[in-house]
Amino acid sequence: MKLSEKAEEVLETMWIAIEEEGGAFFDPEQAGFSVDDPVCRELTGHALVELRQGMLYFRPEGREAGRITIRRHRLAERLMMDVFNIKGEEGDLKACQFEHLLNEGVDTKLCTLLNHPATCPHGKPIPPGDCCLQARQTGDLGVVPLTECKSGQEGEIAYIQTDDSKKMQKLMAMGVLPGNRIRLVQAFPSYIFRVGFSEFAIDTALAREIFVRKQM
Ligand SMILES: [Zn+2]
Ligand SMILES: [Zn+2]
Repeated sequence: MKLSEKAEEVLETMWIAIEEEGGAFFDPEQAGFSVDDPVCRELTGHALVELRQGMLYFRPEGREAGRITIRRHRLAERLMMDVFNIKGEEGDLKACQFEHLLNEGVDTKLCTLLNHPATCPHGKPIPPGDCCLQARQTGDLGVVPLTECKSGQEGEIAYIQTDDSKKMQKLMAMGVLPGNRIRLVQAFPSYIFRVGFSEFAIDTALAREIFVRKQM
């Protein structure tokens, strides 16, 4: 089944409203379209949603389609913002366009490339795929910015994401190099981490640029 981009976006919005915010149904008017909109017909026609008294309800197939679509959206955000370094509104826009290209199989490859991230750059959960569950079983929890580690957590530095050579030099001088062990000592009011026998304090902006492969 190939859905229109609009239908995929409605499923995503429904997923957030129902699965993440605990709503029982979804009011299409809140999302700016009416029940006469072709997108409603598309979704009910594929038996993904049910229309009752002007409200949309997930059918099980629709819930699963929403889960997969939101997963692709948030993986696409990770790719744009972490790997391509396209941030802000432009990153959001590019992610929205790219997610529709992620058909089955490609999303698994992207997830593996990104090391099965648990959250999007906005901190929202990425519903796990089979690839993620497998990776978690083997103890590989994925690559995350240092800002998403908890105090006391330890991992290996995967890469540094900055195009500012001064920042890069500063971090390298602290021993922040791919492959080195890093331990987050404190996350507030500034980030304090340990590399080797030394401790360093950095601000959030810089901490966000250090990507760590977390381990159990
Ligand atoms: Zn996001
Ligand atoms: Zn995965």
